[in-house]
Amino acid sequence: MIKVCKFGGTSMADANALRQVKSIIEADSSRRFVVVSAPGKRHKNDIKITDTLYRCYDEVVELGNCKNAFSIVRERFIEIVKDLGIDLDIKSILDKTEEEIVLNKSADFAASRGEYLSAIVAAAFLGFEFVDAASLVRFDSQGKLNADYTNDKVASKLANVKNAVIPGFYGKNFEGQIKTFSRGGSDITGSIIARGVGADLYENWTDVSGFLICDPRIVDDPKAIKQITYKELRELSYMGASVLHSEAIFPAMKGKIPINIKNTFKPEDAGTMIVPNDRYELDPDNVITGIAGKKNFTVIYIEKSLMNAEVGFVRRILSVIEHYGICIEHVPSGIDTVSVVLSSEELKGGILNDMVNEIRENVNPDFIHVIENISLIATVGHGMARRTGTAARLFTALAKEGINIKMIDQGSSELNIIIGVANSDYEKCIRTIYKAFV
Ligand code: ASP
Repeated sequence: MIKVCKFGGTSMADANALRQVKSIIEADSSRRFVVVSAPGKRHKNDIKITDTLYRCYDEVVELGNCKNAFSIVRERFIEIVKDLGIDLDIKSILDKTEEEIVLNKSADFAASRGEYLSAIVAAAFLGFEFVDAASLVRFDSQGKLNADYTNDKVASKLANVKNAVIPGFYGKNFEGQIKTFSRGGSDITGSIIARGVGADLYENWTDVSGFLICDPRIVDDPKAIKQITYKELRELSYMGASVLHSEAIFPAMKGKIPINIKNTFKPEDAGTMIVPNDRYELDPDNVITGIAGKKNFTVIYIEKSLMNAEVGFVRRILSVIEHYGICIEHVPSGIDTVSVVLSSEELKGGILNDMVNEIRENVNPDFIHVIENISLIATVGHGMARRTGTAARLFTALAKEGINIKMIDQGSSELNIIIGVANSDYEKCIRTIYKAFV
């Protein structure tokens, strides 16, 4: 049995948290590989080490040194090492790191040092080997993870290693430069290591006991999600759930490795299990698994009779949008209609008008209409496909509350129903769906 454990920023924030991490690791000898984040916030107004390291980079660009910002990083690590009482010459390591940040003049390099230092400290404290992520994780020239190369490297380099701590968040490209994932990317590293070593379980240790059915800022004390499939989580994370980096699922999914979201500070809580479809145990009480949403979308609604008989109709619309370099969120369609849902963020500065005019010229629609300030809300659930009446239940509940639905898109997997409502109905809509099903 092999488990890969990733510990997030709050689990690495200070000596007490690290002691807690140690007791978790020591409670189970199959927890052989540990991936760590940089020290995060110790309290609400604290600053994450990663943010301070980005400041170091800014200082280097501005002043040619990063004495100011790096002194915060320095203090934090010295304090952790001192409080833990580990025999590690952290001062020399920090001196060298500061020099390298100045020499490298790279934001990615600077940011990566939080995980690097965190892993050196954790390895010394746990008595595990330190294995640098730069020797395992490889990015291509576009900054994308080279998954196969990385997987081979992890498998071969860790084959004969009993226990190791590996820094999360970064790797290097084929030119030898350090590159990072996007923020929160240590979750991806953990998943990569789990796949590479063929782990039986990937434990992602954080400061909450797993996913909640919906946002606790909208619904009071929502229930936790005990079990969710990779695909369901994709539908939810895409809409903004924030516990796990949205890309972290892919390596584990490839290796069919379940992911358990666990709480470092409440290790007895079961957390959320993320499993492949064939390991999902259907719970007759749960029709839906989760509800997630996001505000501020724009819908371009296009109508044309016999559109379905016109070769290349949708392609021509999508090409116009592609030409503007804009990502498409959804394309719900009917026999004579198609809507394109776009994130409003991307449409600033008059782009929207130009784009609509170009679509008009290209496909000569009967009618084209723009709806702004739309929220998308996804109701996701494995149980929905097997049960009749789910959609009726959802729409009846919304109708009773007087919520006007502006768009419906049921994914072809029957795993989710996405609806578009006015931004002003967003919170009410989520509360209504929660009440209707949970
Ligand atoms: N330390 C990085 C961040 O704050 C990466 C991570 O923690 O996963 O985004």
